Amino acid sequence: MNANNIFLEKKIMITGGAGFIGSTLINYLINETDNFVLNLDKLTYAGNLKSLESISESSRYRFVKGDICDKSIVSELFIDFKPDIVMHLAAESHVDRSIDGPINFIKTNILGTAVMLECAREYWNTLQKKNFLFHHISTDEVYGSLNETDLFTEQSNYDPSSPYSASKASSDHLVRAWYRTYGLPIIITNCSNNYGPYQFPEKLIPLIILNALDHKPLPVYGSGQNIRDWLHVEDHARALYKVVSEGKVGEMYNIGGNTEKTNIDVVLTICKILDELVDLKSKDLNKIIHSHKDLITYVTDRPGHDLRYAIDTSKIKKELNWTPKHSFDSGIRDTIEWYLKNLNWCKNIQESNYQRERLGLLSEKDNKEIV
Ligand code: NAD
Repeated sequence: MNANNIFLEKKIMITGGAGFIGSTLINYLINETDNFVLNLDKLTYAGNLKSLESISESSRYRFVKGDICDKSIVSELFIDFKPDIVMHLAAESHVDRSIDGPINFIKTNILGTAVMLECAREYWNTLQKKNFLFHHISTDEVYGSLNETDLFTEQSNYDPSSPYSASKASSDHLVRAWYRTYGLPIIITNCSNNYGPYQFPEKLIPLIILNALDHKPLPVYGSGQNIRDWLHVEDHARALYKVVSEGKVGEMYNIGGNTEKTNIDVVLTICKILDELVDLKSKDLNKIIHSHKDLITYVTDRPGHDLRYAIDTSKIKKELNWTPKHSFDSGIRDTIEWYLKNLNWCKNIQESNYQRERLGLLSEKDNKEIV
């Protein structure tokens, strides 16, 4: 399948649609297109149906709670829903959690992807090889760490550092193998760090915003000089839809924000905006501060922390005419304002098991400040 000239009323099966990127993608598909969506999600700690509240009553949306590792559920859904497209996002996604417990990452990200591919292949065979597409959503972390000047391209070698990125690299290899061996029509996208509304607060940006609002320490790993290429999640959702509508089968597309920032710069930017938006004096909180940046605390680095990720987006720009619309300056401000207005969404999460504690240290005694 190459570009669909008339891309209307397709049936799209999305895995992991209650997560950060999946929910943004589903909101986009229901609000901006005429397609039908089936969302298969296990609702792990990271899945939250409240992120989908505004579209949950749509007649073009259906939710099924289930595990992608469960072949009977997945194959039944293929037979029942008859998708034209699968957009496979379900994954364990947090590097620090993969350091604490890699086996879940192996199960969901590798075995789960294999189950999705096998069910897709059986279904596609019954279609007698008519139009179908399996889109695997992956990460730039599969390429490992960059020096100061290079960029990741679609030809970069795979060199993952963490159990998370190794499990995503494995799943990419499986997807490619199902294309080369069985001819299953696939596309893989590898994306840089996303930010925006509805992100689970274990990730850097929401963690810093919420800790700052509570006047709690703002943990910066190591020297804070690690560089990430930030992409607004709505730009990512648009790119994913472009790829399934116009992308070429068998290809990989890198998606990035063209916005390289050191972690400490991101934290300082959040502090500066919060200083403008939040009255520091009216707070009855554990620490009196003059600026949110007084809360910055350098902590032990993440084991195997990649120094720099940055994406060369020229292929998706040239072939699919996609570029990000959000600038980091406006995107980060909007994101902070969204969290300020949606503290209930965050509270709901905090009532679960996660209390914004440090994750991913090899031993408790490493959990120390280094300033
Ligand atoms: P997330 O952790 O916010 O959401 C993951 C979703 O998958 C959750 O809703 C969870 O309930 C579901 N899930 C987990 N295990 C499952 C299972 N076994 N069966 C069914 N559902 C399951 O993740 P995210 O940030 O939205 O990332 C989505 C995808 O994009 C992942 O594949 C991730 O590797 C990739 N990605 C993320 C980023 C990023 O910056 N967040 C960047 C590049 C690529």
